[in-house]
Amino acid sequence: MGNAREYDSFKTQEGEEIYLYQATNYDGEWNDNYARHPIYCPECGNALLRFTSKTSNHCAFLSSMPIPPNPEHNRDCSHRYKPISKRGAREFYNTCNHEQAVDKINACINLLKRRNFIPATGDENNQPHRPHLTVRRLVNGRERRCRLRTRSFYSIYKLEEEDIGFPIVFYGRVYLSVDSLESKSMDHHRFNVIKVHSIYKENRLLQSLYFGDNTINGLEKEHAYLFAMIGVPERNGNYINVKFYNRDYTLYRIEEPDQD
Ligand SMILES: [Zn+2]
Repeated sequence: MGNAREYDSFKTQEGEEIYLYQATNYDGEWNDNYARHPIYCPECGNALLRFTSKTSNHCAFLSSMPIPPNPEHNRDCSHRYKPISKRGAREFYNTCNHEQAVDKINACINLLKRRNFIPATGDENNQPHRPHLTVRRLVNGRERRCRLRTRSFYSIYKLEEEDIGFPIVFYGRVYLSVDSLESKSMDHHRFNVIKVHSIYKENRLLQSLYFGDNTINGLEKEHAYLFAMIGVPERNGNYINVKFYNRDYTLYRIEEPDQD
């Protein structure tokens, strides 16, 4: 499948960003609106993407050829570079400083924004232009750029066993609410969860995120927000759930979308 799991969205010739989720029907087939038009990388808008319909073996997916490193993408497009390994991702998030972690979240929010770009935080010398989804890693003694994993909340249902324990930046244009729940354990302690809902399909719950004693004030119901977080998939019974990568130190960003 190559880089089949890298893309959750694409850009049209007009530069509009469309989630794969919006472009497929319930059978995982390509929506007629986009069937006969070229589609492009959501980040650089330059490399052509290809759509593959759902089969009994896999969900519908988008891919670009050749698999990375792929020079059809712009030089600063993260899809030009190979995805980071599981171990590499853990090492990066466990050793990066606060600004570097925030930058990865900002880079994902920027993917969702049309105009009001969020600039890099931290040291100007190390990050001279903008937040990046790539990091430099030593691979077989040579320094290479690797792409950090990202997933939209709309493809969260496609998480697999191999994703478990792998830090990923999750992002999307969603509805958000904070809910208080009571634990089923003996002490019945209360805790909060962030509920992430789809703005596209009847408010469907995409994910509940354990939020402990934290809360977020001022969230409006059925108001679309841009939300990004560093999460890690964990097995929970028959399901795979996403948790904040570091429970004691939740890292996320909520932004208002740009007005059309
Ligand atoms: Zn690209």
